[in-house]
Amino acid sequence: MNVEFLIHRTSRPLDDGERQKILADPGFGRHFTDHMASAVWTPEAGWHELKVAALEPLHLHPAAAVLHYAQEIFEGLKAFRHDDGSIWLFRPELNARRFARSARRLALPVLDEKHFVDSVKALVSADCAWVPSGDGEKSLYVRPFMFGSEAFLGVRPAARVFYGVIATPAASYFSSGVAGVTLWVSENYTRAAKGGTGAAKCGGNYAASLAAQVEATENGCDQVLYLSGDEQRVLEESGTMNLFLVTADRELVTPGLGTILEGVIRDSVLHLAAEHNLKPVERQLRLDQLRAGCDDGSITEIFAVGTAAVVTPVLHFKGDGYEHTVGDGRPGTTTLAIREHILGLQYGKVPDTRQWLHRVV
Ligand SMILES: *Cc1c(COP(=O)(O)O)cnc(C)c1O
Repeated sequence: MNVEFLIHRTSRPLDDGERQKILADPGFGRHFTDHMASAVWTPEAGWHELKVAALEPLHLHPAAAVLHYAQEIFEGLKAFRHDDGSIWLFRPELNARRFARSARRLALPVLDEKHFVDSVKALVSADCAWVPSGDGEKSLYVRPFMFGSEAFLGVRPAARVFYGVIATPAASYFSSGVAGVTLWVSENYTRAAKGGTGAAKCGGNYAASLAAQVEATENGCDQVLYLSGDEQRVLEESGTMNLFLVTADRELVTPGLGTILEGVIRDSVLHLAAEHNLKPVERQLRLDQLRAGCDDGSITEIFAVGTAAVVTPVLHFKGDGYEHTVGDGRPGTTTLAIREHILGLQYGKVPDTRQWLHRVV
């Protein structure tokens, strides 16, 4: 496949004043840009109809495979505006590779790395006026997604697939200083098992996580901390973010890959560890070890990472009948330093020695 995402500009973009009003206070996922990128796949034609055009509702047959059997995957990455006005993506090739892995797991056709990155770049350049200035840690959040759109009832991979990319301007997750979260250790629900879809970024995982999130909210917590479903009860992740903990002897520990989602920020934090005088370690940690470590002070900080919130301090966690405070209950210095480091790279304030940034405009 060697076709481009050609841009057909909408004749009715939102007017400048309205857009500026949105960009001043974008929230997250509430407003969408003027365009979307899309492509269609069939077994006969492969990927075709590549384009960037006006954002508009999709027409779907009520029997479309995705509506019944959830054959769907997605990605999430951000475009950052630097002080000189230029616009950059952060390690988009990792999103492209993960999207291909997710596609294989959900028996969807693979979109190659180049076309994935091209589609994101084409949409961001078409909607570059929608990328907020970087002050206040604003960005444009980009959402590629793919689903079975063939109209049929029956369990098999769809023979017609839709790929789309939409974008939404995003405010800083923490509008008034870095806040921390309290995690709910779910006893009733797990998010993944060996051989399941835990490592794929698919909508079905999120559908299955909603009941656990409701339980967390009912218990006064912000997010869920998932444990493995086996007897080991080891830490997995927090459902939308990967977990890290800092030990008193300067280890930076994160659960190994397998059933968790392989996050771009997770990988980046592991690479930066040495610069923060930390030894990166991928290892399993049982719930009882986590609880004991927080009580005896051998675990000093916990944080969660992901594209949306970058680095979120975990200040407390609780489960059925227990509650623990991490460190002194305030965001830790290592957590905040790593957060500043990642943001500094993304917004061009720290030299990009690893070529992690890709320029769009
Ligand atoms: C997307 C996601 C993450 C974070 O991945 P990033 O690439 O760092 O944004 C973590 N866990 C789950 C379940 C996710 O879907």
